[in-house]
Amino acid sequence: MIPVIAVHGGAGTITRAALSDEQERAYHEALDHVLHGGQAILEKGGSALDAVTEAVFRLEECPLFNAGKGSVFTHDGTHELDASIMDGRTLAAGAVACVKSLRNPVLGARRVMEDGRHVLLVGEGAEAFAAAAGLEIVSDDYYFTEARYAQWQRALAEGRDGLLDHDAQSLLATPVAVEPIDPETKMGTVGAVAIDAQGNLAAATSTGGMTDKRVGRVGDSPLIGAGCYANNRTVAVSCTGSGEMFMRMLAAYDVSALM
Ligand code: ASP
Repeated sequence: MIPVIAVHGGAGTITRAALSDEQERAYHEALDHVLHGGQAILEKGGSALDAVTEAVFRLEECPLFNAGKGSVFTHDGTHELDASIMDGRTLAAGAVACVKSLRNPVLGARRVMEDGRHVLLVGEGAEAFAAAAGLEIVSDDYYFTEARYAQWQRALAEGRDGLLDHDAQSLLATPVAVEPIDPETKMGTVGAVAIDAQGNLAAATSTGGMTDKRVGRVGDSPLIGAGCYANNRTVAVSCTGSGEMFMRMLAAYDVSALM
């Protein structure tokens, strides 16, 4: 089996015209760094699970993407992060939602999975669990980036809540097509899928959610079967887009079922 990893940095389009050479280079370098992190693990015979964990960890560390540092703002100007991971070999899965102080939500999700008692922990309970597991806790300031702040201010001024990170699709049942809220700073939810030399699959997804979302809103990213799914018999999936749609369709599991 030839090991392979694929990563994504979020839904939406970015026009070449809106991107300077320097910005384009920054994205390419960031994605190379992310891919190499996952590939290095796979090349040494490591597991798909470790490869997707490392790739999403690196994406969370990079302020260019809407996960970990660089996450979008809620309507109240705070940050609430969601993440999940799934092992296609065993169907073990872990997720955290609505966490406000975890530096790397994907590591929280991984610990939840390894602990094995539960699949999804939310809010304070998830943060306490992660802290007890030795994961790094940060203050809200850590997630701040100027670009995200400007994006949130613009969403507030335009009175559009619940914007998809880069394309600003409405979260309503009938999405309204609108212009990108900030086409110059495309940054999105992140994810990775991999197959290792043993033929095992894994998937991981991490996000700050939607710009100007209501406090307490949880999207598809931490929901196994909606924004993330992996099964050795079928496929590994990490979704990005308007979460409410993926939740209604159970998109990731649906792809698996179709496979
Ligand atoms: N799916 C994410 C959410 O709804 C957003 C995204 O993919 O950009 O939280």
